[in-house]
Amino acid sequence: MSTATTVPRPSYLDALEPVLTGIIAPAAGEIDRTAAYPQAALDALAQAGLLGLVSAKEVGGLGEGIRAATLLVERIARHCASTALVVCMHYAAAAVIEAHGPRAVREAIAAGRAVTTLAFSEAGSRSHFWAPVSTATASGDSVRLDARKSWITAAGKADLYVWSSCPLTAEGMSTIWLVPANAEGLRVTAPFDGLGLRGNYSSPVTADGVIVSQDAMLGEDGKGFDIMMNSVLPYFQFMSAGCCLGMMEAATTKAAAHVGGTTLEHIGQSLADLPTVRAYVARMRIKTDMVRALLLDGLDALENGRADAILRVLEVKAAAGEMSTEVTDLAMRVSGGAAFRKEVGVERHFRDARAATVMAPTTDALYDFIGKAACGLPLFG
Ligand SMILES: Cc1cc2nc3c(=O)[nH]c(=O)nc-3n(C[C@H](O)[C@H](O)[C@H](O)COP(=O)(O)OP(=O)(O)OC[C@H]3O[C@@H](n4cnc5c(N)ncnc54)[C@H](O)[C@@H]3O)c2cc1C
Repeated sequence: MSTATTVPRPSYLDALEPVLTGIIAPAAGEIDRTAAYPQAALDALAQAGLLGLVSAKEVGGLGEGIRAATLLVERIARHCASTALVVCMHYAAAAVIEAHGPRAVREAIAAGRAVTTLAFSEAGSRSHFWAPVSTATASGDSVRLDARKSWITAAGKADLYVWSSCPLTAEGMSTIWLVPANAEGLRVTAPFDGLGLRGNYSSPVTADGVIVSQDAMLGEDGKGFDIMMNSVLPYFQFMSAGCCLGMMEAATTKAAAHVGGTTLEHIGQSLADLPTVRAYVARMRIKTDMVRALLLDGLDALENGRADAILRVLEVKAAAGEMSTEVTDLAMRVSGGAAFRKEVGVERHFRDARAATVMAPTTDALYDFIGKAACGLPLFG
């Protein structure tokens, strides 16, 4: 069985353990049933210092990076993918603020006093998050933001949005802003009522004349695309893959336990005694371990500046998203009607796992990018 992420166990995973067993795991079913935001988990993660995981030590954080964020999100997703996604978006946005934000905000994030998230997707450009159509307009010394954001995880719950718009005046595809979630003119327009990830609060948000200062700009005007590609994409791709991996691991373990412990009394055999069922469980195990291997190799490529690092960044979410839908589907299949009736605990993973393939960059967009890279074509254009 896979132990690559558990030996030796880093201290941040030790710190996570009591939060997992005491709060995240026990609350997961209820969060799924009621679509409640995982506030208790966020509070406990803040208390444990883990919301500052990717914040620099100089501002009070743990000074970790993509590997730690990915492994931590993976652990959370084994129990509650809604919580895992909220944490994933927090780290992805925190990484941008770490690189470009003011020190006071970085300190607040490091101390667990501020939760942040990404506000990129828009009703106009849909999953093409790199091409916002929303506007930023100079308004005296300030800037006016108008937008129809289509999805923001933790909408109305996070404290800060890392926000994209068309550039103010510069050439380029976008500019990134730091927008307080309580800014006047921001409105969450619908509650989240999704198939899965039911507690992640990914709602549409409109901005009508939201005024921010010029200082709210993160990075340079017109350079948003560079921030998206260099800061956000590697974090998000690996953490999203980690989220998928956590769900795959949970579904595989639960399904294997179910078939091993469920008896066909009339023939004196367990479901696991059936070769067909065993073969399906084997496929689940292999696919889960393949994703783990790709993910760990991708982290190695990134950390060592390998030539294939960008390809791995693109591949890891595509592979994990696709395989998590396959593995959770197999978990439903081998666990039979018992799973359909929610007795095995894999049905939530099956629903939650559907999201990654349609979260941007979507799997099909990634296939297009990876195909272009493999064929030597430019990724954009
Ligand atoms: C649970 C959840 C949480 C989210 N949280 C956030 C968040 O915090 N912040 C944020 O900014 N966004 C977030 N999103 C939005 C997400 O990143 C996508 O923008 C969104 O899911 C796209 O949905 P859509 O209906 O607009 O897709 P569409 O863009 O309409 O896509 C429809 C289909 O067309 C395909 N397609 C589109 N473009 C291409 C292409 N170039 N090549 C091949 N196929 C293509 C897609 O793969 C898809 O199959 C979240 C989404 C979900 C599901």
